Amino acid sequence: MASGEVIFIEGENSGRFPHCNAIFVDDEIPAVIDPATREDYLKSLHEQNLIKLVINSHYHIDHTRYNRLFRGATFAAHRLDAPAIQSLDENAKYAGIYEKLWFQAWKKVVREVWRHEEVEIGRTFEDLEEVCLGQNTLRIIHTPGHTPGHICVEFVEKKAVYLADIDLTKFGPWYGNARSDIDSFLSSIERLKRTKAETWYTAHGEGVLTGDITDRLEAYGSVIHERDRRILEFLSKERTREEIIDKALIYGKKWDPPQMFEFFEWMMVSKHIQRLERMGLVTTKNERYLSLESENTT
Ligand SMILES: [Zn+2]
Repeated sequence: MASGEVIFIEGENSGRFPHCNAIFVDDEIPAVIDPATREDYLKSLHEQNLIKLVINSHYHIDHTRYNRLFRGATFAAHRLDAPAIQSLDENAKYAGIYEKLWFQAWKKVVREVWRHEEVEIGRTFEDLEEVCLGQNTLRIIHTPGHTPGHICVEFVEKKAVYLADIDLTKFGPWYGNARSDIDSFLSSIERLKRTKAETWYTAHGEGVLTGDITDRLEAYGSVIHERDRRILEFLSKERTREEIIDKALIYGKKWDPPQMFEFFEWMMVSKHIQRLERMGLVTTKNERYLSLESENTT
């Protein structure tokens, strides 16, 4: 007899990348969300042949890495992220690394070191779709930005929400893929502020939070505005792409391997630059970037 419990499973190394925290719902249809937590725990679920439904909150490999253990289950994800879970090539296109020289090396590591395997998505979600597991109803909240099909999952009866990678960490929102989007991320944070729950689970960082998290969501979203300000300030002089990357305005410091740092740093910064250009605050000339405020005042 299923207990109906929603069980938070802390990931290895406190759920730091390339791991994440996960959720096991012990229900008539036993389900796991983001099986990339402790392998021993997931293996024991697998050995008991328990899991009937696997939900991936989005296509990132640190959320899908042990999907392969649950081959007999139905896999589900938002419609927009499903192609990138089903195919590593699509995954790389969503990320923006498909054309990179190091794409094949990345793919080899993902397949051989992580032993990642693609799975077929048997069920695709739309916003506000509900899934009845027996004692628990899951409500899908489409929260794009981090990825186009990123979802949070509400446990209706438990008054709880799994926030996935809207993870409330100090680092702040991450939108380092080609298909990530800052404005959608901000809208998703606003939407969560209007969502009522008593317990909140994150895929990384603190893991479990209780009560009102409006301030936490506010602080998390404000990191985006801080980054806008930092970038504008640095562009008070005309800068090249190389100078901007070298400053590590997003990550704060460089990390290895350099080509990956440079890729993700630029992906994040360039999304800010495009956003600031739309606001009329930055201009781009011959791949040089300059704040318009400084041009007007000097
Ligand atoms: Zn992610």
